[in-house]
Amino acid sequence: MELPFHINLEGKTAVVTGGSGVLGSVLSRALAKCGAKVAILARNQEKIDRVVNEIHEDGGEARGYSVNVLDKNELLDIREQLNEKWGPVDILINGAGGNHPKATTSHEYFTGEAEDAQTFFDLETEAVDELFRLNFSGTLIPTQVFAEQMTNKKEAVILNISSMNAFTPLTKIPAYSGAKAAVSNFTQWLAVYFSKAGIRVNAMAPGFFLTEQNRGLLLDEQGKYTERADKILSQTPTERFGEAEELVGTLLWLVDYKASSFVNGIVVPIDGGFSAYSGV
Ligand code: NAD
Repeated sequence: MELPFHINLEGKTAVVTGGSGVLGSVLSRALAKCGAKVAILARNQEKIDRVVNEIHEDGGEARGYSVNVLDKNELLDIREQLNEKWGPVDILINGAGGNHPKATTSHEYFTGEAEDAQTFFDLETEAVDELFRLNFSGTLIPTQVFAEQMTNKKEAVILNISSMNAFTPLTKIPAYSGAKAAVSNFTQWLAVYFSKAGIRVNAMAPGFFLTEQNRGLLLDEQGKYTERADKILSQTPTERFGEAEELVGTLLWLVDYKASSFVNGIVVPIDGGFSAYSGV
């Protein structure tokens, strides 16, 4: 992996939740490339192993753990294992998160729908709760577990992953938008709360990245952009989707104490100008 610039994370331990995902894996590999020991906490063992192997092949140090970020006891157990191997954590990236299809409307507007459409009235409460828990509590619980040992540790840093939809909700995904707004809000709360304890807390808000997860929504069978993809691009001044590697510069800036020691409680949009554009 090519880094936009190099920072020195030798001797530091990083935990990346969601570190096996499309974006999380790139963040994990970048941290390892800078010398951090990286613990990848995610769901699917096979995907975790793939990222751990990639890091090893690239000369870095990594360990993988299949875990539910909502299970505090599992996380405490991992913390103990990490303490034994590498010592307390210096960097926490809260990357686990995502949308839920049962918390998504079929259409952008309510127009007294066809029967097969999933309207706002059909959204499943359980799916909405699950989504909120994954994105919000899935940020809060790992922070409780790992930040407890970061207090008064020089240069400790937490980076949450919010989203574009936190600034202005996107159509169809009211719960995911609300949950990410909560993550942005919580980022500011944590930044203030830990400001006397030496932990900086910031967030990245990625815009639209063409990933395996949303490929079906953005590309048709011929590989052409769908109507939604065209609409997104028409609202993105840069007129293209982002590449996961384009998060790396912001990641390195925000985790490097020398580069960002006075930056605390911000949410950085990485969106090709989407959030700045009014559409006119
Ligand atoms: P992804 O689906 O590829 O990866 C999600 C990761 O979260 C996986 O590693 C998965 O194992 C992990 N995960 C899910 N539930 C978990 C749980 N209960 N416990 C532990 N791990 C769990 O998603 P991605 O595209 O890499 O997204 C990463 C983050 O960025 C998410 O928070 C997502 O909401 C956010 N985001 C993504 C985009 C995008 O365009 N892909 C845009 C904005 C924000």
